[in-house]
Amino acid sequence: MSRWRVPVLMYHAVCPERSPITISAGEFAWQMRWLTDEGYQVIALQTLLRSILGGTPPPERSLVITFDDGLESLYTDVLPLLEGFGFPATVFLVSGHCGGCNDWERQPGSIPLMPMLSWEQIREMDVKGVDFGAHTINHQRLIQQSDQEVERQILGSKEMIERKLGHEVDLFAYPYGQLDDRVKGIVRKAFIGACGTKLGFADENSDPFEIKRVDIHYFKHRYLFRELSNPVGLLYLSLRRPLRAIRTALHP
Ligand SMILES: [Zn+2]
Repeated sequence: MSRWRVPVLMYHAVCPERSPITISAGEFAWQMRWLTDEGYQVIALQTLLRSILGGTPPPERSLVITFDDGLESLYTDVLPLLEGFGFPATVFLVSGHCGGCNDWERQPGSIPLMPMLSWEQIREMDVKGVDFGAHTINHQRLIQQSDQEVERQILGSKEMIERKLGHEVDLFAYPYGQLDDRVKGIVRKAFIGACGTKLGFADENSDPFEIKRVDIHYFKHRYLFRELSNPVGLLYLSLRRPLRAIRTALHP
């Protein structure tokens, strides 16, 4: 039994389209308000990593907010809310698509085509305190790539974001949550921590290079979101885990 556990929420886009990776701005705002009212302390992913590595528990009722891919709605709809609530967040960028759209190869048909953040928007968000991490150059399924391509995708995305922002980038998220020892070994050399997509909470036993997250897709309903850290939410999470594995296996 771990002494503490922290939900690391995984969002993608905040927009009106309904899909497995979207949530409306109204619902997102409701969730942020609820977290505030319930006394959650939204902490930076680096703060959580320090607790995992150092063994010091994070503050009571801590929670981390992350966004994968770097879609433009983060600038238009999410940034004002994060600023308003004073919440930190980490955004994992698909560096080769910034300023374009999420039209990478083998994107499932259930995912709408959406614009991505421009480098100008990213720089403004960076100045305002949003953390940026790497999520490869082209959203590749890394375990299917050659050693050379894996290195290019991981290190190339880090270098591109660092060049555009003018400072170090030390966090990574695996596209589709796909990794093996080879992929993790390269990530370990270049970053201080990385997020996967396995459903679960972070705790003191977490692997800093495969931090479990809570895909908000499964907690969109207000009733479930309210139960996030309660026994009902934990039970639901444990039931969703095998379904999530099936979903990933069907869309490899
Ligand atoms: Zn992604």
